[in-house]
Amino acid sequence: MPKTPEDIIRDEIRSLTAYHVPDSAGMVKLDAMENPYRLPPALRERLARLLEQAPLNRYPDPAAGELKAQLRRAFEVPDGMALLLGNGSDELIQMLIMAAAKPGAVVLGVEPSFVMFRMIATFAGARYAGVDLRDDFSLDIERVLAAIERERPAVVFIAYPNNPTGNLFDAGLVERLIDAAPGPVVVDEAYSAFAGASFMERLPRHPNLLVMRTLSKLGLAGIRLGVLTGAPRWLGELDKLRLPYNVNTLTQIVAREVLQHGDVLTEQAAAIKLERGRLLQALQQVPGVTAYRSDANFILFRVRQAEHVFDGLKQRGVLIKSLHGSHRLLADCLRVTVGTPDENAAFLTALTRTLAA
Ligand code: PMP
Repeated sequence: MPKTPEDIIRDEIRSLTAYHVPDSAGMVKLDAMENPYRLPPALRERLARLLEQAPLNRYPDPAAGELKAQLRRAFEVPDGMALLLGNGSDELIQMLIMAAAKPGAVVLGVEPSFVMFRMIATFAGARYAGVDLRDDFSLDIERVLAAIERERPAVVFIAYPNNPTGNLFDAGLVERLIDAAPGPVVVDEAYSAFAGASFMERLPRHPNLLVMRTLSKLGLAGIRLGVLTGAPRWLGELDKLRLPYNVNTLTQIVAREVLQHGDVLTEQAAAIKLERGRLLQALQQVPGVTAYRSDANFILFRVRQAEHVFDGLKQRGVLIKSLHGSHRLLADCLRVTVGTPDENAAFLTALTRTLAA
């Protein structure tokens, strides 16, 4: 008898539901924290010429030395720290957990936070321990420290700012956590461009600190490039798990060229921050909406009957993200990415109409 998936596939994988990406064709797309702005036409033309010359018959540059040097400058990585590149930061999370997933290993994070920390722990056969945030989404440091003591986690993940709540945790508390953890603590700074706060400069002070960045939220979600920085003795081990050529030629060419015009991305991030302020103010004025201030490029808000509001927005052509049902603290919560002024206006109109219907 040939074996069935039930025989072969691990129970914890069969009980997962795949990370769902909804169809967004024709919608105002405010669900995935993308930068709503395209690159300026002159830069796009330059990219077209570079891509036309790309040696696609050859494997990519495996070391990506020049790209790493540019990222080091762009992200102000302290001297002496190593860089590891991934096919998005998702892949870096995967490498780290795979490397640390000894039998019985625990991955610790706070809840609610980025779902891939838990999912990838499950993929790798590690146990995930989630420590609830306080009701105001701040770090419950006593509970975190107690959990670190109890679980002795192999790896800890902290998103800074946090997704989906949008806030920065108190930096002093995060430092206490880093000092208490027995293993590496990854401070995931996917949204740092919108926050103006970072742990990057603290790397030399904490030998178990790793700082992760991505180009995705900065305007290059399509090329998939994540960066992990930290002490060479950690990253050297992780590099052994990296599949050869994980950062493809097209990604390397685009990242190198765009980083040479890095001010384009910084200016777009500044425009998004400005819009975030306007959107928050507008949301706070909608009756029946509680909107939380954010240090990222999205805003979390609470309504009555979130699922109904989510569907109403969708019917009106606006796609956001519903978090209702994913965690106790997110009951009736929705998350909207900050878009262009026009997209945000379309969202606000659709929201007001849905709430009035
Ligand atoms: N970290 C956080 C906190 C995120 O929210 C996301 C994307 N939603 C990622 C990492 C993954 O980003 P990437 O596109 O680099 O894989």
